Amino acid sequence: MTAENKEEQKDCEIKSQAKPEPRKRKYPVVNREECAGCSVCVENCPMNCLAIEPPKFHGDIHTIAILLRAEQCTGCGICAKNCPIRAIEMKEKS
Ligand code: SF4
Ligand code: SF4
Repeated sequence: MTAENKEEQKDCEIKSQAKPEPRKRKYPVVNREECAGCSVCVENCPMNCLAIEPPKFHGDIHTIAILLRAEQCTGCGICAKNCPIRAIEMKEKS
């Protein structure tokens, strides 16, 4: 084995020992202006994380979806995929 090959092998060993970067979890962010409060996302969340706020419709108050239980959210994106008007964007938590 040449000196160059030994260096390459060493590099590979170091790389293989390196821990993979943890994947950053994404969370749903509801566009408050666009959300129609239809509840489709709430009904489709398998973890029961979302809720409509305020819970009841009062006159012309704009109801929207909120992430009520963020600690339970798995970042699966089902809510965003099912929103009929694409008012949910999956974003990394800052
Ligand atoms: S990303 Fe998945 S778990 Fe999180 S609120 Fe949306 S549907 Fe629920
Ligand atoms: S599905 Fe979309 S429009 Fe309906 S409540 Fe959820 S975020 Fe709002």
